[in-house]
Amino acid sequence: MITSVLPTYNRAPLSFVKGEGSWLVEADGRRFLDMGAGIAVNTLGHANPELSATLKAQADTLWHVSNLYKIPAQQALADKLVETTFADTCFFTNSGTETAELAIKMARKYHYDKGAPERIEIITFDGCFHGRSTGAIAASGAEKMVKGFGPLMPGFVHLPFGDHDALTAAISDKTAAILIEPIQGEGGIRVVPDHCLKGLRDLCDTHGILLIFDEVQCGVARTGKLFAHEYAGVTPDIMMVAKGIGGGFPLGVVLATEDAASGMVAGTHGSTYGGNPLGCAVGLKVMEIVSDPAFLADVNRKSALLRQHLEGLIAAHPDVFERVRGQGLMLGLKLKIAPADLVGKCYEQGLLTVPAADNVVRLLPALNISDADIAEAVKRLDAAAASL
Ligand SMILES: *Cc1c(COP(=O)(O)O)cnc(C)c1O
Repeated sequence: MITSVLPTYNRAPLSFVKGEGSWLVEADGRRFLDMGAGIAVNTLGHANPELSATLKAQADTLWHVSNLYKIPAQQALADKLVETTFADTCFFTNSGTETAELAIKMARKYHYDKGAPERIEIITFDGCFHGRSTGAIAASGAEKMVKGFGPLMPGFVHLPFGDHDALTAAISDKTAAILIEPIQGEGGIRVVPDHCLKGLRDLCDTHGILLIFDEVQCGVARTGKLFAHEYAGVTPDIMMVAKGIGGGFPLGVVLATEDAASGMVAGTHGSTYGGNPLGCAVGLKVMEIVSDPAFLADVNRKSALLRQHLEGLIAAHPDVFERVRGQGLMLGLKLKIAPADLVGKCYEQGLLTVPAADNVVRLLPALNISDADIAEAVKRLDAAAASL
């Protein structure tokens, strides 16, 4: 008999009833150190007092108003995002996949309005993940996500990851945009080198193509910069953000330059819940905290500390670990064994990690994790590896 919850997830036999900072607690009191943070969502840990106070204050004031009206909390968050990024304008959603839908629409509408309606193709790369809506799975093209769901939305060109020749060959007078995660999350913490992001920017400029960065997982201070692309010194035309910006409250946002957004006039897009006061109040608090240079410096310091511990771990278990990769507190342990085996052994040690493709286990802790919890996580990883 089917379960009352649609059985689309492979769930671990764990259920948490409470969260405190980097810890999750089961009903029987068993505590788990959370190095997954809801897959890079709980930016400031569980039950963060500042975020709770912000959410409660907003809940006592105003929950929902339609986008038929101005929403001051939404305006304030948009202003903060415009002030701290390349963007001139923002549209709020409730999830990452909704940001993919708008990014696709925005790119096509841009060329349509510029008199090039034939420019509909969006180039994406192997291992990418942009969400589970019909547009986002078509963008990915991965067999496991699209099988049985056809016909897929046409207009996506899927290229190998890191193949420069394939990319130049794929550019045509039908190309509308290139869509890429500066660091692939689900794909296994695969970092796109800075010179490649620069090369993509040049290519897009030369051919009048829009560059879309999906920073749903790598954005919002996760890498030790406010957004991951800042390391490369280039900016996109459109950027997708979700996961970490809500700190656990469902919130996403598409950021864009004035030019890239020029097609999206009144009536071309909308969302009932997108940009609601609850999400935007929390999002603004998250942004205020993580955009502080001292906060970002601390993320980088913690990253160095964690990496240093992990290098020791790799040396101690060369049959389990191959190497560590990633940026800031978005780290991947490339394994010589199946990721599920290590993740399972970590559960036994009271440690939560997240598997990814390419034989990687992800470490995506809350950005305000303590040094003591970092040391504890490595101790538990060590015990998990030893028990394999
Ligand atoms: C998680 C993720 C998405 C989809 O976000 P949802 O909120 O699950 O729809 C899109 N892109 C990237 C890079 C992601 O990691």
